[in-house]
Amino acid sequence: MRWRIIVSSILCLILAALPVYAMDMYSVGYDAGKKGLEYLNISKGDPNLLVLTNAGYSTIESEETVLAIDGVSDSTGCTIGKENLILVHNNELKPLWFAFFRKDTGDCVYIEYSPEEYISKGNIKAELLLNNPEEWQKKMKSKVFHGNEFSIVTISSLWAIGAPYHLLKSAEFHNHICPGLISGYMIAKYLEKNLPLRKGEKYQIIASPPWCKDDAIQIMLDSTVGKRGMSVKQLSKLQQKSLPNFAGIYIRTSKTYGEGDAAVLKFDWDKAAKLCDVNRSYFKDFKSYKWWWARLKMNICLMSYLDKPEEFVSTVKTFHLSADQHYKLHTAGVNPYEELGFIKGYIKEKGSSWTWTWICAGICAGLVVGFLVGYFLKRR
Ligand SMILES: [Zn+2]
Repeated sequence: MRWRIIVSSILCLILAALPVYAMDMYSVGYDAGKKGLEYLNISKGDPNLLVLTNAGYSTIESEETVLAIDGVSDSTGCTIGKENLILVHNNELKPLWFAFFRKDTGDCVYIEYSPEEYISKGNIKAELLLNNPEEWQKKMKSKVFHGNEFSIVTISSLWAIGAPYHLLKSAEFHNHICPGLISGYMIAKYLEKNLPLRKGEKYQIIASPPWCKDDAIQIMLDSTVGKRGMSVKQLSKLQQKSLPNFAGIYIRTSKTYGEGDAAVLKFDWDKAAKLCDVNRSYFKDFKSYKWWWARLKMNICLMSYLDKPEEFVSTVKTFHLSADQHYKLHTAGVNPYEELGFIKGYIKEKGSSWTWTWICAGICAGLVVGFLVGYFLKRR
């Protein structure tokens, strides 16, 4: 009898403790929201306010943080439906963070729990950053938002100028916005017009070469890797040189690996750089501000072309595939562009270790034969 009472009491204590922890996560979000409003001097529900957080993805000592989303939403008035609550994809080991952005002033407050509270502020108005990049570069270098600066700046700046919901959904998954992600949004829009799905159909895509576009494409078209909707195939540098701006092979089919219509697409990065007045070499300059400056500038510029994907996306070739041909293009070891005749085998082999092995073997064999012939001639 005594044991029963002790066990029941312990169980009651455990059950009582559970909601307390759950309440805590809600409170963490709620309090972060309150502080965000205070620092930005803005009221709950103000349409100028955006909240970004990795709550739900981050865990604190293996505990879920998802209730913090409800908390921050209740205190700020920002919701998914109003498109002003963005849930940024992170791995679970990243500390829980919230960013509060006010679009009319450009002010931003970052609050992180790791588990100690860390708060920092900065003005991230895109215009200011683009006109005075050296100043923001100092903050980037010092990781003012603990390494989330690029995510927060790029998502906030495009939200402020009306980024459509599907682009924001892609940004959540990709955890930032870059011209590569926008190119994926445009490719999905281009396919809607030029290779539209009919009832019961789906896309199976060969992402070759892969780049940021493929995260947007998976979100926009639901052609996910796990459901065989996308096979990812990297190309060598030499192959990419032979296939400039190639952006993958898009197959419309009614059955997984079934027969279907295919289109090879390109994305014109030279035109994008020219129209947006961005030097492409800036994208690879990670030592200065140029890498983020070029991306931010092109992001904003490309927003004007979201509904005109044909400005940059074009079809190289369309054709019909049998089920066997379709399946082969997806399989490991097959270069789909070689299979379709866009490049020849020598590009694949050029410079490969096997080529050099055969060249060395040939030289060695020649030397041995030469030596033997010389030896026998001498003996005669
Ligand atoms: Zn990206």
